[in-house]
Amino acid sequence: MKVIVSECLRGAHCRYDGGAKPCPEVQELCQKEGVEVVGVCPETASGLPVPRPPAEQREGRVFLKDGQDVTEDFLLGSQRSLEKVQKSGALRAAAPLAVLKAKSPSCGVKLIYDGSYTGTLTPGDGVFTRLLQKEGVTVVTEETIKSCKPSVEHPVAIVLGSGLGHLNSLVKPARHIDYHDIDGFPDDARPVNGHTFEATIGTIDDVPVVVYPGRIHLYQGYNAGEVTSLVRHAHHLGCRDIIFACATGAVAGNAHVGLGILTDQINLTGQNPLIEGVAKREVETPFVGMTDAYTPYLRTLALGVADEMGIKLEQGVYAGVLGPNFETAAEVHALRMLGVSYVGMSTVNEVIMAHALGMNVLGLTLAANESGNPDTTHDSVLEEAGKHAEDFERLVRGVLRLL
Ligand code: SF4
Repeated sequence: MKVIVSECLRGAHCRYDGGAKPCPEVQELCQKEGVEVVGVCPETASGLPVPRPPAEQREGRVFLKDGQDVTEDFLLGSQRSLEKVQKSGALRAAAPLAVLKAKSPSCGVKLIYDGSYTGTLTPGDGVFTRLLQKEGVTVVTEETIKSCKPSVEHPVAIVLGSGLGHLNSLVKPARHIDYHDIDGFPDDARPVNGHTFEATIGTIDDVPVVVYPGRIHLYQGYNAGEVTSLVRHAHHLGCRDIIFACATGAVAGNAHVGLGILTDQINLTGQNPLIEGVAKREVETPFVGMTDAYTPYLRTLALGVADEMGIKLEQGVYAGVLGPNFETAAEVHALRMLGVSYVGMSTVNEVIMAHALGMNVLGLTLAANESGNPDTTHDSVLEEAGKHAEDFERLVRGVLRLL
């Protein structure tokens, strides 16, 4: 997997003052097996002298602190760096990825220095970042890499759905937790076919994880607070990344039966966990922005892993419905018109809760049937899940390896 990386994050002395800004987490990512780095420094590529005064953007132009307008130099360096990236083949990847230095007028993402040279930040992207984004590259900063990095204190939570619970067997266990000991999980809940109600804390391939091999659903009569109790538990344990895996129906015309990545969601359940969450002071405000609820960085990693391993993987929007009946033909038609690729009876409320708690979310699905197919049964879902079990395992392990 090719990753475009700011040279200063790798430790190169290429900054305006001749210094570096090495980031151990980024350096570690660069050294992982299968990762091929395309190093860039647009400012060095511009030919500007080093050392020089710091540069910042103001009203779309770039100025050095001494007042010199260096906009054209920054554009030239960014264009030269883009050409280097193009030649490397990184843009031909299934999901091109760049890890660039935060806040920089060249490499910053979403927030950059505001032109006052006081360390104040303003919304905006660096000159080079804008070029990469036009090419369809997912651009993140070292802050994202740090926040996604698992550790014993911050294990990766994995919540598994129907037929996908066997991933639990990969865990080298350190401890088990009965779901009924989890705050907010209903006492009377019992697993249905394909689920187990015991979380395992341990490691998969030496990566610390907490695996929840089953879940409860709104259609069983539980409320949104109860179905999201596992998410709050994971957050309390210190998990910052959470992988949701669910069985869904593929909406014909928008997706096929098989493995998929969730890019976004539509909550059609009529429920919301933040109502109870706010009441219990678990989240600060109910008015949670849901942009990028499914973390683009994790999605890009998963697409890259699938591409490398030859795993067939589609992506699309997930609609969460209340259930338990499957969809009518009219509902499938409506979902198709709404741009929905996958429909299921879980996950949306859990993602809302995870996002409200600031967790990084990866949504994986096994579309086990075509939505609205009258022959669909719980057993047929489990049977289809079994056919993709191996690819699902390889995909999750591949993502964990890169975190
Ligand atoms: Fe070079 Fe970008 Fe680092 Fe600036 S932030 S030194 S342009 S790599």
